[in-house]
Amino acid sequence: MEIIRDRNVEFIRLQFTDIQGIVKNVAIPVTQLGKAFKTGISFDGSSIEGFARIQESDMVLKPDLDTFCILPWRSMGGTNEARLICDVYTSKGVPFEGDPRYVLKRNLEVAAKMGYTMNVGPELEFFLFERENGSGTKPHDFGGYFDLGPVDLAEDVKREIVRVLIEMGFTVEAAHHEVARGQHEIDFVYDEALRNADKVVTFKYVTKTIALKNNLRATFMPKPIYGQAGSGMHVNISLFRKGENTFFDPERPYNLSDVGRYFVGGLLEHAPAITAVANPLINSYKRLVSGFEAPVYISWSGPNRSSLIRVPAARGLSTRIEFRSPDPSCNPYLAFAAILAAGLDGIRKGIDPGEPLDLNLYGLSQAELDQLGVRMLPSNLHEALVALEEDKVIRDALGEHVVNNLLRLGKLEWRNYNTYVHQWEIDRYINII
Ligand code: GLN
Ligand code: MG
Ligand code: MG
Ligand code: MG
Repeated sequence: MEIIRDRNVEFIRLQFTDIQGIVKNVAIPVTQLGKAFKTGISFDGSSIEGFARIQESDMVLKPDLDTFCILPWRSMGGTNEARLICDVYTSKGVPFEGDPRYVLKRNLEVAAKMGYTMNVGPELEFFLFERENGSGTKPHDFGGYFDLGPVDLAEDVKREIVRVLIEMGFTVEAAHHEVARGQHEIDFVYDEALRNADKVVTFKYVTKTIALKNNLRATFMPKPIYGQAGSGMHVNISLFRKGENTFFDPERPYNLSDVGRYFVGGLLEHAPAITAVANPLINSYKRLVSGFEAPVYISWSGPNRSSLIRVPAARGLSTRIEFRSPDPSCNPYLAFAAILAAGLDGIRKGIDPGEPLDLNLYGLSQAELDQLGVRMLPSNLHEALVALEEDKVIRDALGEHVVNNLLRLGKLEWRNYNTYVHQWEIDRYINII
């Protein structure tokens, strides 16, 4: 209340995300904040994707005070606007099982019972396009990996994005141009999974907002341009216990402990089902192809960037595994929940991940892959949804409400896409057939 008074905060945006991880909000004048904390603010859950059916649609938002922050770009005439991320409750006052944030919290509790807290460090990549009418994909610059001005034309925009993020409480580690034209990455430090899931959704709308103010369009679409690198959201993961990193063991290869190895084993086992959550779009699967540093095969390794799971060179407290398949179109709450459940399953069952594969998998023939026993990630949304349907561990982690909605929405999307006649088909067939 002190900050609200000192900064002259006039409105509060109460935010939450739908099943796809899209941020939604209702703005309230600051006079309503007392009520928001006492009883919550009601809304129509049937209008939110993946939430409620129309006959039981009254839902309630309850703000999480830890998420309070001012939205720097909304200052106006000496007054300010702030946001609070909320948990969603049913009208009966119980947490709503379809609220992605609750799904993550529930899985973090399971980890806590085993003595673990989960830290994640996500690396979001995105494209900046010229803001023409409609949805053009003209890159904003012609830069490549680690380029600087005058080739990187986004130095100023990135500086503005980073400044805003810092004002909102992020600790930003680095920003750089990525491989593709108009593609960039901004990294923030690892934190507890819930905090950083909140930060992922915040990061995306801050980036889009500041880009728009600069007359640019930022997109987190995984593969906007055929033949160019796509945008990933690598997730660096470690489990801590009493301030110690349980993935670190100086005696083992890569300094990765047995707990870490079993976590990898669980991730490999459940990778197909996780894909439905971590790569939720039709377009996600156009990124998961050979040759662009995105994973295609279910494998783990040391420094190898063609594998699904990499153990980066850092050691000690920063020992971690990097899970490389997720893309930034995913719902981070659900993705982190699925990743955690898979890893914990690996730890519980002591799943051996097998030998790491420190070779360029893109270069192997099918026969060589078969001989190594390397499975492929799902190659399209349909395959991923089938894998989710068949994976009891991941289903239980997400809960039936979320799973049923993911399957319903995903199958609908797949059918729409498959029955559509694409420009590619016209170009290829119209004249020769
Ligand atoms: N853009 C790559 C991906 O799709 C990652 C490239 C990198 O950060 N090394 O995952
Ligand atoms: Mg990176
Ligand atoms: Mg990158
Ligand atoms: Mg990375």
